[in-house]
Amino acid sequence: MNDCTFCRIVAGELPVRIVHEDEAAIAFLDTSPAARGHTLVVPRAHAVQIWDADESSFADVARAVHRVALRLRERLQPDGLTLRQNNGEASGQKVDHVHVHLVPRWHGDGTVGWPWPPPVDLDLDAVHAQLRD
Ligand SMILES: [Zn+2]
Repeated sequence: MNDCTFCRIVAGELPVRIVHEDEAAIAFLDTSPAARGHTLVVPRAHAVQIWDADESSFADVARAVHRVALRLRERLQPDGLTLRQNNGEASGQKVDHVHVHLVPRWHGDGTVGWPWPPPVDLDLDAVHAQLRD
């Protein structure tokens, strides 16, 4: 038996407020919203983190995220939209099934930008050398 909360939602075993469904993903309202319209997009196929999902299934998630982003803009008319996708406990991931947060934003609603202090003494050339092709 799969005890993953999001797999159970995908299977229709737990009630959620569905915003969008397609063949690869499901989107529903977060029950502890950071803002009005805070929505989660979850792939139907179980993967714990982005590194566990294959490229095609993550692309399907991105397509659903785009569709939901358009819906949120059309229906709620926010001033902005924050996307957040956490991987691992160190990032704040709370449910071990890939998901993307879509958080509509309005002027004056709180923190703007990254929600943590910037790193100090960061050598951008060294980081670039590690990451470039
Ligand atoms: Zn799952």
